[in-house]
Amino acid sequence: MYSVTKRIDFCYGHRLLDYNGVCAHPHGHNAVAEIEVQRSTLDARNMVVDFTDIRNVAREWIDRELDHKMILRHDDPLVALLQSLGEPVYVLDSNPTVERIARLIFDVSTERGLEVSRITVWETPSSWATYTG
Ligand SMILES: [Zn+2]
Repeated sequence: MYSVTKRIDFCYGHRLLDYNGVCAHPHGHNAVAEIEVQRSTLDARNMVVDFTDIRNVAREWIDRELDHKMILRHDDPLVALLQSLGEPVYVLDSNPTVERIARLIFDVSTERGLEVSRITVWETPSSWATYTG
């Protein structure tokens, strides 16, 4: 198998509800998403996929929807408050853990036509989560 991986840096804020710990309070991360595409054969260009295609599909969406946004659970009281102040919020159906964010990027990349095999999101340099579909 061949695989290529594109690294995409982004910043986000979040907090976790129904959780006892420091992540219950609003805070931010300098995150890194790794977008991996895997194939058994190469295309006519001798590529799994052009890195530019990964950038155009995944990076464009991450930059627009997640970068410098608060990612919050739909029933978090901060959602309405921040929106009323004109602050950007990305709303999820469940707690915005790094695992859930990896799944989100996997689903969006797949919906947008990228044959993703793995998404890893680094929340800190020593903590990351992976979703493989
Ligand atoms: Zn956090």
